[in-house]
Amino acid sequence: MHIRCWGSRGAIPVSGAEYLRYGGDTTCLEIRSSDGETIIVDAGTGIRRLGNRMVAENRLHCHLLFTHAHWDHVMGFPFFRPIFNPRAELILYNCPFEDRFVETILSEVMSPPTFPVRYAELKAKIDCRHDCSTRFAIGSVTVSPVPLSHPNSGTGYKFTENGRSFVFLTDNELGFVHPNGLNFDGYRDFCKGTDLLIHDAEYTPEEYRRARQWGHSVFTDVVALAREAGVRRLGLFHLNQDRTDDAMDRIVAQCRQLLAGAGIECFGVAADMTLEV
Ligand SMILES: [Zn+2]
Ligand SMILES: [Zn+2]
Repeated sequence: MHIRCWGSRGAIPVSGAEYLRYGGDTTCLEIRSSDGETIIVDAGTGIRRLGNRMVAENRLHCHLLFTHAHWDHVMGFPFFRPIFNPRAELILYNCPFEDRFVETILSEVMSPPTFPVRYAELKAKIDCRHDCSTRFAIGSVTVSPVPLSHPNSGTGYKFTENGRSFVFLTDNELGFVHPNGLNFDGYRDFCKGTDLLIHDAEYTPEEYRRARQWGHSVFTDVVALAREAGVRRLGLFHLNQDRTDDAMDRIVAQCRQLLAGAGIECFGVAADMTLEV
C-alpha cells in the first residue's frame, strides 16, 4: 500500500508561518492498493488538493470511507472536484453512521443556506455501500473496521494487503471509554503487530488534564499503546489547531525518548508525507 497524507490537523484548518512543516489541512488520507484502487479516508480540507490531483491525472474512480461526521472530517467534501465530474465514480461507505446514512450527512454538509450547491445536484456517479459491519475488501486491500472511543462515536480501520497492515485511529481517546468505544486493551489487541499505526495524539499530559473526555488522546497513552501492541512504526496524528511546528517537534522528541530501545520508529504525520506499507 502507498499512503499519502493530505491533512493531519484536528478540529479546524489553520494557516500561517508557524504551521508550514506539518501543514494546516484537516484529515484526509489516500491509500493506493497494489492493484490500483484509490481509497480515501475522510473528507477534511485536505481532500481538496487530492481531488485536484485526481482530476489532473484523470483518475476518477475512488472509494471514500469516513471515520465520523465531525466537521473537520467532512468539511472538504464540497471542494472535492471529482464530485462535479460526470465521468467520476465514487463509492461511499456507511461505516460510522449506523442509523444515519452517509448521504444524509453529506446532504447536510451541502445544503443551503450554509452551502449553495446541494448534494443531489452532484454530477459524479455515487454508489453507497452498507456492508461494513465486519471486514470487507476493496480491491486487494482488506478493510477491518473498529469502533472509536469518541463523542458521537466513529470508526477506525485496519487495512491489510499482502500480509502487511496499517491501522488508522484518529479521534480516539485511549484514556476514557466513550459509548460504543473499546478500552485500552481492546485497541491494543486490534493494533497487535501492525506495520504502521497512525493514532490521534492531540494532547500533552498537561493539556489532557483539562481535555479529558473530549475524545482525543494524550501522547503518553499512544506511546504505551504502540509499545504494548508491538507496532513497527507510529505516526502521531490529529495535530491540535494551536500546535506550532516547533511544539510538534518537541512532542515527537519526547515520544522518541519514551520509546527508546523499543525498536519503534515514531514521527509526527505531516501533510504531503508518503508512507509505504
Ligand atoms: Zn477531528
Ligand atoms: Zn471528532
